[in-house]
Amino acid sequence: MLSVNNVRVHYGMAEALRGVSLEVAKGEIVAMIGRNGAGKTTLLKAITGLVKLREGDIIYQGERITGMQAHAIMRLGIGHVPQGRQVFGDQTVEDNLILGAFTKIKQQPRQVRDWLEREYTRFPRLKERSKQLAGTLSGGEQQMLALSRALMSDPEMLVLDEPSMGLSPLFVKQILDTVIQLRKEGKTILLVEQLAAAALSISDRAYVLSSGQIEMSGTASDLLHDEKVVRTYLGA
Ligand code: ATP
Repeated sequence: MLSVNNVRVHYGMAEALRGVSLEVAKGEIVAMIGRNGAGKTTLLKAITGLVKLREGDIIYQGERITGMQAHAIMRLGIGHVPQGRQVFGDQTVEDNLILGAFTKIKQQPRQVRDWLEREYTRFPRLKERSKQLAGTLSGGEQQMLALSRALMSDPEMLVLDEPSMGLSPLFVKQILDTVIQLRKEGKTILLVEQLAAAALSISDRAYVLSSGQIEMSGTASDLLHDEKVVRTYLGA
C-alpha cells in the first residue's frame, strides 16, 4: 500500500533521514520505534508532504506522491495524527472535527455528518464536550480529538506520531485499543511510538530507526524478543 524508497531529508546541513526504505501492506499495523531525534517524526512528515525530500520516492497505492502538497496526499487517503496533537485550542471540539473533513465537506456534507456521529460513538467523551473549546480538554481527550479529526477525512491509511505521549496509562490503553479497532475497520496504520513494548504488542511488523537509518526490521514478535531491541528500546 505504501512504499518508501531510499528517502533522504535534510534540515539545512543536518541530514535527518539518510536513505530510508520501508513497506506497509494493506491492513497492517506497522510500528516505527527509535530514540529521540532518530528521525521518526521527519519520516511521517515526509510521507504526508510536510517536509521536502532531498532524494528518494514515496509510492501510495501505486501512485507516486513524492513532492505532492500535504492536502493532496490527504485527499488520496492518508491521515496524519501529529506529535503533540496540535488541535485548534480556540475552536470547539466539533469545529475541530469538521475541519478534519475540509477536503470532503462541500462534496459530501451528509457523509461528513455520518462520520461525525461515528467519531462521537467511538469517543463519547468528545460528544459530551462537543461545544467546549478544544484547548480546555485534558491531554488524553485532546489525543482522542486529534485521532478523530484525522479520521474525519475518512482515510484508508493513518500515520500516528507518538499518540501515547504525556498520557496516563488508562488513556494509553484506550488509544492503543482504538488503533486495534481501526485495523478491524480496515485501516492501515503506521505507528511511531516511544512506548516500544506497547507499540510492538499491537503491531504486525516493525522498523527500528536510528540516526536517520533503518537499523532493524522484522515481525513485531521477533523484535520483541530480539536481545538488542530489548536492551536498547524496551528498558530491560
Ligand atoms: P522525537 O521522538 O524527539 O520527536 P524523532 O525521532 O521524531 O524524535 P525528528 O523530530 O524527526 O526525530 O528529528 C530528527 C532530527 O532532525 C533531529 O536531529 C532533530 O533535531 C532534527 N530536526 C527536526 N526538525 C527540525 C527542523 N525543523 N529544523 C532543523 N532540524 C530539525
